[in-house]
Amino acid sequence: MAQALEIPAIVGLETATAFIEDGDLLIVDRNTGDVIINPQDSTIIYYQEKQFQHEEFKSIIAKKSHLPATTLDGWRIAVKGNIEFLEEVEAVRDNGGDGIGLFRTEFLYLKSKGLPSEEELFEDYRNLAQSISPDPVTIRTLDLGGDKFSSELEITREMNPALGLRAIRFCLKEPELFKSQLRAILRASVYGHVQLMFPMISGLQEILDAKKILAEVKDELDQKQTHYDPELSVGIMIEVPSAVTMAEVLAQHVDFFSIGTNDLIQYGLAIDRINEHVAYMYQPFHPAILRMIQHVVITAKDAGIGVSLCGEMAGDPLCVSVLLGLGIEELSMNARSIPLVKKVIRSISVEQARKDFDKVIRLYTANEVRAYVVDKMKALVPELEEKGFLDA
Ligand code: PEP
Ligand code: MG
Repeated sequence: MAQALEIPAIVGLETATAFIEDGDLLIVDRNTGDVIINPQDSTIIYYQEKQFQHEEFKSIIAKKSHLPATTLDGWRIAVKGNIEFLEEVEAVRDNGGDGIGLFRTEFLYLKSKGLPSEEELFEDYRNLAQSISPDPVTIRTLDLGGDKFSSELEITREMNPALGLRAIRFCLKEPELFKSQLRAILRASVYGHVQLMFPMISGLQEILDAKKILAEVKDELDQKQTHYDPELSVGIMIEVPSAVTMAEVLAQHVDFFSIGTNDLIQYGLAIDRINEHVAYMYQPFHPAILRMIQHVVITAKDAGIGVSLCGEMAGDPLCVSVLLGLGIEELSMNARSIPLVKKVIRSISVEQARKDFDKVIRLYTANEVRAYVVDKMKALVPELEEKGFLDA
């Protein structure tokens, strides 16, 4: 949310509230994770200058954000936006996004008193499909539970919510709630280019169960002669390690994979994504994560289905060349990350990224990978270092 609203946010400061008082002046440096309380005049001047330079850099790269993201050797990479509410479509457009790669649909459920009605959902999805059309939008079904709670829904507090009744598991247990959302998505699908995606898939059975419910909903709509896109693509998030292992099988049942590294890192490395004590271990460059992503990409390509990556990693300028090197051709991220990621894409070649990835895959710690990538990126896009994007 904070990112979507462009509010700098730092988490895990633990004792911050013991030091900060009402009315204090704070400098929040989201690049380094520093918060400075009541800074001296010289520090304020230093940061004002830094902020000015950052804004200037943003406006320079924004000028080219509407150009296609084509690498030096001619590969066209799709760069899309992740959004949580309709109003963000404009930011994706303004920043040069090629559509919406991930629409997280929890907001209406979190905001409403009681459940949102099918009509409310339909209105929202229709507006979204229309406003981004002809570009596509991937609407992800409800991913409540885990770190996304609703007090209105009967999701009981669990010892281990991330491993509990969340996302697709919750929807399969509440078929009426699930059907209402599916109906709304199907009905909206005639107003633009809509794709449907299920979150947190851990194995084939969930896909079969979800698709069975989807087929029932389509039957109901057919009976009422309500239109929907009969060709609607159905995909899944790959964010649970068992789905990575089973990717060959799952690929036979869906039209696309979208790799969710936020959860894949959480489940793959056993790191609670919202626990500040282990945040230092939350490493996208962990060799296990890179190998999992590579396996999914190769599997999807062999099966002839689409594959993209929509976790935070997609919007990290430092990760771009590694992702291109392992075969990713579609990324989806926070709108404000799009211009810089496009700039990085335009500064590298896929051929070189592949050669570099051959080296990266032979490194066995995240720190080694990071050091290697930082070195490469410093040379290719010097601004990344100058503007603090490579700060640890
Ligand atoms: C992910 O897990 O990477 C993802 C994109 O989904 P979310 O952050 O909404 O869990
Ligand atoms: Mg996720």
